[in-house]
Amino acid sequence: MTELAYVNGAYMPIEQAMVPVEDRGMQFGDSLYEVVRLYGGVPFRDRGHLERMQAGANVVGFETDFIAQLREVIGVLASRSGLDDAFVYLQVTRGVCPRIHAAPDGLEPTVIATVRAFDRLPGILYRKGASAYTEPDIRWGRRDVKATTLLPNILAATRVQKKGGYDAVFFEEDRVVTEGTVSNLFAVIDGEIRTHPVGAKILAGITRGATIEAAGRAGLNVREEAFTLEDLWHAEELFFTNTYCEVLPVVTVDERTIGEGSPGPVAGTLLEHFKNIVREETGHH
Ligand code: PMP
Repeated sequence: MTELAYVNGAYMPIEQAMVPVEDRGMQFGDSLYEVVRLYGGVPFRDRGHLERMQAGANVVGFETDFIAQLREVIGVLASRSGLDDAFVYLQVTRGVCPRIHAAPDGLEPTVIATVRAFDRLPGILYRKGASAYTEPDIRWGRRDVKATTLLPNILAATRVQKKGGYDAVFFEEDRVVTEGTVSNLFAVIDGEIRTHPVGAKILAGITRGATIEAAGRAGLNVREEAFTLEDLWHAEELFFTNTYCEVLPVVTVDERTIGEGSPGPVAGTLLEHFKNIVREETGHH
């Protein structure tokens, strides 16, 4: 089992992977990323991740089409690493040039990837439920683009981690809840599953999409309509979704109890159906 890196066509041990100082990803965060999970060494929905990345590249004007290249990279990293439970991190930057804000045309994008083993989150977190803390959402206006320019997420996630929480609950000035720093957020409000609609305000999570499919399998409807902090305080259930945690129940926000204060039946049902989807598509969970 080896953790490996890929840089512009070459595979190597992670410690040897380097990018130039004047890479625009390094200097400006002029750069996009994805994280794809491997179950039993098989990528889950890599095509969806890469299509999201390509859509982001089209928005920010990276002149490249890298879906085929990155699909191959994911496959090679998965097989050469021999890792079962792992993550492939992918990053594409606009390229290297002398430092100037305006992006020159015709740069050759830098393409990097790493594969690392993943220790699953402890089972007790799912049995007891996670905690979350509210944070004002001060991110930019194109959160659908998965850019590496992540300072607002990093500051909020760091504050939350110091308090022992799993993730933040981001809210906007009008008190509308958007998502977490690394996750999408769902609530059960008056018996109905709710989550913020996709668009520029949130990332269209791959797990979010699979969770909505899972709900369909369970005969449950998801209303993709934003809810506010006030709605959240009265929610019966709350849960985060992302590539790491899958479907993770949240039982306190800012130390206030949500619902019964224990993981609820909807999150549990959706997690089971989500796992079935993963098993069907990868042969593992
Ligand atoms: N929202 C944000 C802001 C994220 O960073 C992530 C993690 N990439 C997600 C949602 C969840 O996305 P996914 O299910 O594709 O991991």
